[in-house]
Amino acid sequence: MLSRRRLLQLAPAALAAAAQPPRRTRNLVLLMTDGLRWQEVFSGADPALLDRKAGGVADPASLRRQFWRGSPEDRRAALLPFFWSVVARQGQLFGDRSRRSEARVTNGLNFSYPGYSEAFCGVADPRINANDRLYNPNLNVLEFLHRRPGFEGRVAAFGAWDLFPWILNAPRSGLPVNAGYEPLRLPEKNERLELLNTLKAETEYWDSEAFDSFVFHTALEYLRSARPRVLAVLLGETDEWAHAGRYDLYLKSAHRFDRYARLLWDTLQSMPDYRGSTTLVLATDHGRGSGKKDWRSHGRRIPESQSVWMAFLGPDTPPLGARASTDTVTQAQLAATIAALLGEDFRSAVPAAAPPIAEVLAR
Ligand SMILES: [Zn+2]
Repeated sequence: MLSRRRLLQLAPAALAAAAQPPRRTRNLVLLMTDGLRWQEVFSGADPALLDRKAGGVADPASLRRQFWRGSPEDRRAALLPFFWSVVARQGQLFGDRSRRSEARVTNGLNFSYPGYSEAFCGVADPRINANDRLYNPNLNVLEFLHRRPGFEGRVAAFGAWDLFPWILNAPRSGLPVNAGYEPLRLPEKNERLELLNTLKAETEYWDSEAFDSFVFHTALEYLRSARPRVLAVLLGETDEWAHAGRYDLYLKSAHRFDRYARLLWDTLQSMPDYRGSTTLVLATDHGRGSGKKDWRSHGRRIPESQSVWMAFLGPDTPPLGARASTDTVTQAQLAATIAALLGEDFRSAVPAAAPPIAEVLAR
């Protein structure tokens, strides 16, 4: 039995715990696509790039039929129908600079490893300054959650890019990180997964990055079979096709990313363990430049490529839609926001991490 004195010592902590609002989010899925610009998210296809010369478009008439509309509102709905019919009505979407909602990375480098590290670790670490195979020294939020009661063995990441085991420090964190062309093996026999493994291995184009379709469907198979509480799915084609100067394939990859977000959401709502208790977070790792040449690229020399976007959809996020006139939100806030949605405090482990985005957490 506790002494009266011990009870008094406990009282403030107990009061603080009582004051913590209960969260309905029990599970969380993070879906990211590499280097998708805020310009396409909020305005759809860019009229300056729907041609052979600037956009490398193979069939401009066909691409225009698919994605060109008279207004930015109609163009974005054509490109990202799930974003604009579901997320923008039931969730929140940050990063429309034309409406004074700014989202940005704070690492100053505006490329992938620093962007993912900032998102997962909650800090912009100046030591993370190259896309190299170096194990990330920082604790990431997936690893943090993996160590929390109730989450052990129920956190996993799937990435198109083969650098994710380094970014998420898989050997140290113990997280399953399936990345690049690596096959996924599950304990029970799964013929769909075996076919996905074969097709992924045999459909090689980029050296260090698999096509999104194989990565996404492998992750979906894992979700159905292993039932993780936290799942990160990290796609890459939007960045690859932009670097290749193929605006048509970039748009089609963005459109497919939106379809994958819908498929994830519908799948989650069809599963009793996940329905009404899962938050979907959508994000990117960096922006890109603008204009007929710089849209292809990003990095320190293109300061505007610091601009990103992010979206939240789930039972704890008030349905404020596409936000306007907000405080700037940063990539570094994603880590603590993800933890907070699950009722966990990432900053208890990483005090330097940026705080959660309060507005996506219901009071
Ligand atoms: Zn890139």
